Amino acid sequence: MNATPYGGGVSELLRSVVPLLNDLGLVADWRIIRGDERFFEVTKAIHNGLQGAAGGLDDGAKASYLKTSRENAKEFLEEYDFVFMHDPQPAAILPLRGKGGSRWIWRCHIDTSSPNPQVWDFMRAFLTEYDAAMFTMEEFVPRDFPVARVEIVPPAIDPLSPKNLPLPRALATQVLEWIGIRLDRPLVTQVSRFDPWKDPLGVVSAYRLARREFPGLQLALVGSLALDDPEGWGILSRDTSGDRVRSARPRVHERRRRREHRGERVPGALARRLQKSLREGFGLVVSEALWKGTPIVAGRAGGIPLQMADGTGGILVDSVEECGEAIASLLRDPSRADSLGRSGRERVRHHFLVPRLVLNELAIVRELAGDRPITRAPGWLTNRDPVCGMIVEETAVASDRRRTGPVLLRPMSRAVRHESGTVCTRP
Ligand code: UDP
Repeated sequence: MNATPYGGGVSELLRSVVPLLNDLGLVADWRIIRGDERFFEVTKAIHNGLQGAAGGLDDGAKASYLKTSRENAKEFLEEYDFVFMHDPQPAAILPLRGKGGSRWIWRCHIDTSSPNPQVWDFMRAFLTEYDAAMFTMEEFVPRDFPVARVEIVPPAIDPLSPKNLPLPRALATQVLEWIGIRLDRPLVTQVSRFDPWKDPLGVVSAYRLARREFPGLQLALVGSLALDDPEGWGILSRDTSGDRVRSARPRVHERRRRREHRGERVPGALARRLQKSLREGFGLVVSEALWKGTPIVAGRAGGIPLQMADGTGGILVDSVEECGEAIASLLRDPSRADSLGRSGRERVRHHFLVPRLVLNELAIVRELAGDRPITRAPGWLTNRDPVCGMIVEETAVASDRRRTGPVLLRPMSRAVRHESGTVCTRP
């Protein structure tokens, strides 16, 4: 369960992991909480606070978080053997709903190593009943974390998702031309939500420094807006219309895309990469770029050094000045840039592809299952299609989904009939 079906790394992961779990024979659903704009403003403030931002939550913000969490808890009727709650947005549903017969795992994707104490106190209270927690790095676990079982599992990318597949040259050229990129001039890009931690203004400043030496250098800031990140629109308009950026505007190609699927293939088509994050959970975009053999200049933040350990993949930087110089150095020495890109791809192949993540998650599930045999009362799984969420006819639900007993490693029914008469067939 998470907060958004698109935009950001968590939805990217779930889009690949949930179908893979089903392919392996588990019954796995992806559920998304509901919330209004106020709720997502509060959860973004919680997200920022957990990453250390100053400022607290007033009583109104806390009440809004609790109210929406309560509504989501009421709607969460199904019983599962395991529930993975991703990030702070859905975290309070467990204490508000009750554990039932499930094991609950809180999956934290952000850097909570030095959280804002007031925000952390508020969130901490919702986490105490979780059976386990997963963090990307050991350093991210807060000192007074209330869950005894903590697993360190970095995320991973899906090499078969459209954006990670190699693009035919003709299509790449077409896409670049479509968004206004000149192919005869060097290009750096950053692919990110418009979030202060991704430092888009720092990117523009570093680009300007590098452009002194390479006047033809182009910059593309590529970003879709996530449903659970209302802050993005404000930052986007500030970055692209504010005084600081206006003067660079003729050389900065921007495209505003409300609908991600229209831009789905764009990140894969762009060449040299930047990820000048100030704080970062993992930064899937780094592995995505490395998987394409693209050298990266990246902020030394969160999970980025993990992906670029031992000098693989590119250059880590700590300031705008270092970033500008690193971009210029990669442009000066293309053979070094290529060799960094190649080493990055190998690192991703060994450590950051999605089958490793699925194995890690299944190992945790198996350990948690080991404590207590899994038994289910009849009717444990409602007749709801796990893909589209519609209610399906009782008679059309395969008998193996209505039995009692262990639920792991059973094949899914291949076809279900909806009340409307539509039949969904699974691959
Ligand atoms: N992404 C995308 N289009 C965009 C911006 C981001 O598809 O315009 C994807 C990106 O490719 C990556 C994910 O969103 O898969 C971002 O994950 P990451 O861990 O880098 O950052 P987060 O947004 O979760 O902080």
